[in-house]
Amino acid sequence: MKIRRQQKIKDCKYCKTAFTDPRLDPETDFQSITIGNTDKGFNVYIDAGVVNNPPVSIKVFMWRDDLRQNVTVAAITPHYCPMCGRKIAENKPFLRKSKE
Ligand SMILES: [Zn+2]
Repeated sequence: MKIRRQQKIKDCKYCKTAFTDPRLDPETDFQSITIGNTDKGFNVYIDAGVVNNPPVSIKVFMWRDDLRQNVTVAAITPHYCPMCGRKIAENKPFLRKSKE
C-alpha cells in the first residue's frame, strides 16, 4: 500500500499509524488500545492501522457468553482523535460513507 504522508504529523499512541509515523510498516502497524470505563462485559477500543477501513475507529465490544467471544456492538469513525485532538485526515474517505 502506497502512503502519501504529510509533513511531520503530531499524533498519539492511540491514533499512531504508518500514515503519521514513517518508521512504522503499513502491513504491521495495527493496534487496539482500550479506553474509558465500561460496565462488566463491555470494552471500548481505539483501533488504528492503515489497512483498516477506516484507519482509525472507536469500537464497543460486548462479551457474548453463548458465542464465547466479543462481538462489536458499535463502531464510530471519528473526525478527530478523541485522545490528542489530531484531525484524522486518513479517515476522510470513510466519513463520507458513514451516516454520522
Ligand atoms: Zn491521537
